[in-house]
Amino acid sequence: MSTADSFQQHVLPTYARFPLAPVRGAGCRLWDENGKSHLDFCTGIAVCSLGHCHPRLVEAIREQAGNLLHCSNLYQIPQQAELAEEINTHHVKLPGKVFFSNSGAEANDGLIKAARRFGHHRPQADGSPRFEVITFQQSFHGRTLGSMSATGQAKIQQGFDPLLPGFRYLPFNDTVAIEAGIHPETAAVLLEPVQGEGGVHVATPEFLRAVAAVCKKHDLLLFFDEVQAGFGRCGDAMAWRMIAPEIQPDGISWAKGMGGGVPIGAFWLADRAIDEAGSALASLMGPGSHGSTYGGNPLVCAASLAVLREIREKELAAHALLMEVRIRETIRSWASPVITGVRGSGLLLGVGLDAALIAPADGKTAALVVVEKLMDKGLLVPAAGPETIRLLPPLNVTAAEIDEALEILRGVIGEF
Ligand SMILES: *Cc1c(COP(=O)(O)O)cnc(C)c1O
Repeated sequence: MSTADSFQQHVLPTYARFPLAPVRGAGCRLWDENGKSHLDFCTGIAVCSLGHCHPRLVEAIREQAGNLLHCSNLYQIPQQAELAEEINTHHVKLPGKVFFSNSGAEANDGLIKAARRFGHHRPQADGSPRFEVITFQQSFHGRTLGSMSATGQAKIQQGFDPLLPGFRYLPFNDTVAIEAGIHPETAAVLLEPVQGEGGVHVATPEFLRAVAAVCKKHDLLLFFDEVQAGFGRCGDAMAWRMIAPEIQPDGISWAKGMGGGVPIGAFWLADRAIDEAGSALASLMGPGSHGSTYGGNPLVCAASLAVLREIREKELAAHALLMEVRIRETIRSWASPVITGVRGSGLLLGVGLDAALIAPADGKTAALVVVEKLMDKGLLVPAAGPETIRLLPPLNVTAAEIDEALEILRGVIGEF
């Protein structure tokens, strides 16, 4: 049975999959089951930050697999402690504490639970708990019931109601709406500093500062979803620092690029006092409040440590900024009417497309038409909404690989 037939017969059809079956990867390249080589600027959707099968990551996994794969969070896991220290000291660079999950959605669920606990600890004037989390239109926070309810896109939620109550979706980058959108039951604000799935939209510094000011004024927790944008992807260890470096968030979620391909996510809570008695935010999530059997096991933590240390030691965030400039300058030099602009930060970039010039048919979006043509020519990229394709190469991509990918893109764009 072919892979496609086997899928059809045995796998739930939740994904609209392309007819491509990858079997091997190295760096920026991916080979399919027919032996065709592809330049991979999708990287498992910003997951393989070091490219495929980076030797340091492979070696860390091999070594850990030979020592201990899994034990339990009933015990102290040295790799987990080491990874949390790496994250706090070298990436967040603010005092705080980490919980390890297996995905981005679960990391956001953890932040939502922390907001609820905070709302109990700091209730409304009448003593009833605060519970609402403000999120934003076109956001994406995941597919679990909690993170899906947080997501400000109707298409993600359709047919799954009743949703988890307690979310309000405000327009992104609207400083007036955020001030007016706070209610007595509001406990937190959750946002992507760079919206990824929703079309690659970067928060403006004015907006981030307005949100931070509103949080301070109304005693709300400020959470950043850096699941896609974090750990070097946007040109700094943390994406919000590219926009408004002085802001100190209360919580952050990560996943995707932090494991380089192993399933790991995490959320972080700041070590800050949340009441007059000086109780720490982290104390709201005490023993028994949250858990995950796999979360932060020795294997994934050893892998993530290798990834984060490589990103830091090789200064891959700074490299991402250089490559961003190369991409922007090259695309600008084409002066193509098909391309409406390049948005994003570092190597989380969206190329906007003029749908009228692409004139998609058969119910396809302009982005899908371009993604399929690029795939045919050997370049893999994901779409982000109907009129944007994303460029998400590994953070260690070379200038020559960027040039090769852009040459393919130029050829495809030239067809319209
Ligand atoms: C991908 C993504 C998620 C969900 O992560 P999963 O690992 O798929 O659960 C959440 N937030 C953002 C910003 C994402 O890009």
